This record gives sequence, C-alpha cells and structure tokens, in this order.
Amino acid sequence: MWNRCKEGERMTYDRLVCANCAAPVSEGRCPVCRANRERMQHEGPFGGLNPMTLIALLAVLVAAVALLAHQTA
Ligand SMILES: [Zn+2]
Repeated sequence: MWNRCKEGERMTYDRLVCANCAAPVSEGRCPVCRANRERMQHEGPFGGLNPMTLIALLAVLVAAVALLAHQTA
C-alpha cells in the first residue's frame, strides 16, 4: 500500500510540466523545475497534505481514541 502510494506520487511528478519553461519538471531544465523536483523528492507521500488537514486528522484520531477508551472503561 505504501509503495503504491509512492508510485502514484511519482507518476504525477513525472507528468508535471513546468510553468516557467514548459518542459517536464523531471528534466530539471530551469531553476523552477529543479526547485520543484527537489521539493517533491523530499516531501514524500504526505507532502500534498496541508497542515490544517493533518491537524484535522489528528483531532479525529484523538476523538476516536477517547471514545474507545470511554467505551472500554
Ligand atoms: Zn522549468
């Protein structure tokens, strides 16, 4: 599952065309391409999520755990 997720991420990155030079970002022809490529390689599968989404997911997780603890106690 983890590998498939990374594979999907990689495919979208390979198809991405640069707004600056109109070449595929994966070729790294201009500084914008190279910056985007670097960013995508470092961010990983959670790079597309913004912090608010992560906080919301965390809140849901905490609520679920609290509910579970309440039911079992
Ligand atoms: Zn470019």
